[in-house]
Amino acid sequence: MNRAISYVKTFALWELLKGLSVTLRNFFRRSVTLSYPEEKTPQSHRFRGLHALRRYPNGEERCIACKLCEAVCPALAITIESDVGEDGTRRTTRYDIDLFKCIYCGFCEEACPVDAIVEGPNFEFATETREELYYNKEKLLDNGDRWETEIAQNLELDAPYR
Ligand code: SF4
Ligand code: SF4
Repeated sequence: MNRAISYVKTFALWELLKGLSVTLRNFFRRSVTLSYPEEKTPQSHRFRGLHALRRYPNGEERCIACKLCEAVCPALAITIESDVGEDGTRRTTRYDIDLFKCIYCGFCEEACPVDAIVEGPNFEFATETREELYYNKEKLLDNGDRWETEIAQNLELDAPYR
């Protein structure tokens, strides 16, 4: 009897029909996928993406070269050198982050007393070489200038929880 049923199913393309019925059932349902990069999923204001060094509204660098971020980084990804400027303020002469080493833990951001180093909302920075993931001070400041509006908004949203 089982063999007969099996024959009938084979000739009626039963498995194919079963598969098509699944397609048909889901055809009119709301899509759960997005057409990236045109569409993007919502992002938390705590998202930890590409690093950025921020400036004050007058253009002055926020970073005071205290090196807390360098000390706290568990991946030893940050390298800072500093000097005292003509105005007597301490500034970094070198600020490098090796994003190949970075584990995006956010410790540097949390340790910074002046919100200078932050992990911004940008996650689209894939590269073809390791060297491109080596961010120096200039690149980090550029990131800060480019993403300042979004970063400031995210920090404001997170402020009540800090
Ligand atoms: S996110 Fe973590 S691992 Fe990456 S640079 Fe900051 S402290 Fe280091
Ligand atoms: S980024 Fe922040 S924690 Fe790091 S050296 Fe500058 S002021 Fe200090």
